[in-house]
Amino acid sequence: MWNSSEVPLQLPGSRSSDRLLQPLWNYLIFHHYSLVSSPFFPVLLAFSSYFIFSLPFAIVDLLGERASVFYRYKIQKERRPTLRMMAKSLGMAVYNHLVFVVPAVVINNVVMPAPPLPTVAPTLWELVSGGLGALLIFDTQYFLWHMVHHKNPHLYKWVHAIHHDYISPFSWSTQHLSAVELMTVGFWSNLDPILLQCHPLTTWTLTVFSIWLSVEDHIGYDLPWTPSHLVPFGLLGGAMAHDMHHQKPSSNFAPFFSHWDKLFGTASTYVKPTETVSSSLKEA
Ligand SMILES: [Zn+2]
Ligand SMILES: [Zn+2]
Repeated sequence: MWNSSEVPLQLPGSRSSDRLLQPLWNYLIFHHYSLVSSPFFPVLLAFSSYFIFSLPFAIVDLLGERASVFYRYKIQKERRPTLRMMAKSLGMAVYNHLVFVVPAVVINNVVMPAPPLPTVAPTLWELVSGGLGALLIFDTQYFLWHMVHHKNPHLYKWVHAIHHDYISPFSWSTQHLSAVELMTVGFWSNLDPILLQCHPLTTWTLTVFSIWLSVEDHIGYDLPWTPSHLVPFGLLGGAMAHDMHHQKPSSNFAPFFSHWDKLFGTASTYVKPTETVSSSLKEA
């Protein structure tokens, strides 16, 4: 068990009534310290989130009309991913993590080891404001990166094109990415919470939520209870917006929010696939 006296308090002066998350934080650091303090924990959290969020939609895809309670929300009903397509995308994600991400974590841990975990939990306000701030910064970074990689033919061909192998995204295709794109996204995901001095619990919550938003972008189902429908004023793009990006790649570059595409005039609303897709479809 970890000895809390070894680590100084990092958030002094806060009232205990602000610390609603303290019991959860105590549980994590007193019962699972070796796990949550491991440099591999953020990667494990990110990959397991991707796997757990993607799996149910893969099952729905395979069941098709037999899972009609979900399948009726499918955006491009005429295009269902095959088991082979799913295996290819999941295999790509596993390969990129083993060959690129894990070695990068090892090197990063040698060059810049993470500080010890704090003993005090973040306040709810710190968690929400820090998480939202990092999400907005990431959204801006990826929007600009994404737009540049669609405008420049060389960058598109060598870095981003692989993500557009499928005109109808499915859950596993969330991480159907080149190693360069995955490492770029991973770099920002690590850097942004550090810049905002987020508590580790904020960073981990952000990781899980942003992976959900990324998977939701690709599930291919416009489910009525997803964040993009629950957050008002169309502030989030969600599955419909990103599905549209895969059908019409010159639009909807932002990963999560809708404001940058509206400001840059690249927002595109959903149009029935039969009106937009060409014969260049890769999947049947
Ligand atoms: Zn995509
Ligand atoms: Zn794209």
